[in-house]
Amino acid sequence: MTQQFDVIIIGAGAAGLMCAATAGYRGRSVLVLDNAKKAGRKILISGGGRCNFTNTQVGPENYLCSNPHFVKSALARYPSSDFIELVERHGISYHQRDHGQLFCDDSAKDIVDMLLTECDWAGVSIQLRSEIHTISQNGEQGFIVQAGGHSYQAESLVIATGGLSMPKLGATPFGYQVAEQFGLKVLPTRAGLVPFTWHSEQKQRFEALSGIAVPSCITAANGKQFSEALLFTHRGLSGPAILQISNYWLPGEAISIDLLPKQDALALLEQVLQQHPKQSLKNTLGQWLPKRLVEALFEENQLSKALNQLGHGEREQIAAKLKGWQLVMNGTEGYRTAEVTLGGVDTNELSSKTMQSNKVKGLYFIGEVMDVSGWLGGFNFQWAWASGVACGQDC
Ligand code: FAD
Repeated sequence: MTQQFDVIIIGAGAAGLMCAATAGYRGRSVLVLDNAKKAGRKILISGGGRCNFTNTQVGPENYLCSNPHFVKSALARYPSSDFIELVERHGISYHQRDHGQLFCDDSAKDIVDMLLTECDWAGVSIQLRSEIHTISQNGEQGFIVQAGGHSYQAESLVIATGGLSMPKLGATPFGYQVAEQFGLKVLPTRAGLVPFTWHSEQKQRFEALSGIAVPSCITAANGKQFSEALLFTHRGLSGPAILQISNYWLPGEAISIDLLPKQDALALLEQVLQQHPKQSLKNTLGQWLPKRLVEALFEENQLSKALNQLGHGEREQIAAKLKGWQLVMNGTEGYRTAEVTLGGVDTNELSSKTMQSNKVKGLYFIGEVMDVSGWLGGFNFQWAWASGVACGQDC
C-alpha cells in the first residue's frame, strides 16, 4: 500500500528539518526520510559539540556559488535574526565569539531538540533508518519513493541529503544522483573548509611544529584573504585561516602567509637594530614568533648572526618572508575531515525564491547538496535554515 503525503523530504539534517517544520506549519502533511539512526548528526558534532548555529553578520559575500546572486533572496527572507529569535523562544542559551559567531552555551543537542520539537508541533512524521531504494515520477500524482520496504507518494519531493564531507557520518552522493536522474546539472564537487597536507619534504621540516598556533593573514592565489589563527598539525596546516582559504584554493596554487599581521616586519627589525645591534636574529624573531617556528623558517647560520651582521637586503628578505611566506601545499585532507562540500546541484537549475527545479515541477533541492557553500562561522547552517524555510513556504 502506498502512503500519501503532500511533501516527502529526504534528509533529516539541518535543512531538511527546518523545511519540514515550515511546510508542516502551513498545513502540509510532511514525511522526512533518513537512512541514519539519528536526526541531525552533523549538527550534533558541529562547532566542537556547541554548534556555531549562525552569525550576526550574514551576507551573500560569505558564500561561494557559481551564481553569486542566487543566495540573496533566501538569506534576505530568513535572516540570522529570525533563527536567533527561534533559539531564544526555545530558551536555548548561547554566546557570541569572534567575527559574530554564535554558539550554544551547553550543547549542539539543544539545536537538534529544538528542530525536532518544531517538527513535532508542526505534525511532521520522521522515519529514520530508511534506506531509499527508488524514486520515480508518476505524472500529475507527483513522486513515488520506495524506502525500507514501504512505498510513499507526494506532490512535492525535497532533496536535503547534504554533501560528501564526513562519510563516516553517513554522507552520500545520493542528492547528486537524484539531480542527475531528473536531468539537472551537478557541478564538480571538492572538499571545502578542510586542512592542508604537507609534501614529504615539507613534512620533514615542519612536522615538529605540530600544535603551534599563531595569528596570521593568509592570501589565496585569487587574492582572497583571511585574518585568523593558523595551526600547525602533524599532517600539515589547519586552524580557521586555513579552513577559510581552502575554499578558494586549487591544487598546485601557492598560498601566502603573513606571520606578523598588521605589523611592518622591516620597520620592527630596523627598530631592534637601532636599539640592540648585537642581538641575534634568532632572539629578535623569538620575541614575535614561537622559537620552534623561527628555527624551521630560517637557516641556523642566518639565525645565529647579530642584526648588525645582516645587510639591508638580507633584512628585507627576512621581512618579506615573515610577511608573505609562500607555500605550495600537497593537497587537502579531503572529505574525511572537510566541513563542507564545494560544488553540487547547479543553482541555475533552481528557483532562488523556492529552491524548486526549473525543469521538474515539485522537485526541490536545499542545503549543502546545492552549489552553495559558506565560510566558516555559522554561514553553512544559516544557508541550511534559509534555504529550508524558502522551500518549506512553497513545497
Ligand atoms: P546535513 O546536515 O548533512 O544533513 C543531510 C542528511 O541527509 C543527514 O541526516 C543524512 O543522514 C541524510 N542522508 C544522506 N544521504 C542519504 C541517503 N542516501 N538516504 C537518506 N538520507 C540520507 N556549519 C556551520 O554553519 N557551523 C558549524 O559549527 C559547523 N560545524 C561543522 C562541523 C563539522 C565536523 C562538519 C562536518 C560540518 C560542520 N558545519 C558547520 C557544516 C554543516 O554541518 C553543514 O553545512 C549542514 O549540516 C548542511 O545541512 P544539510 O541539511 O544540507 O545536510
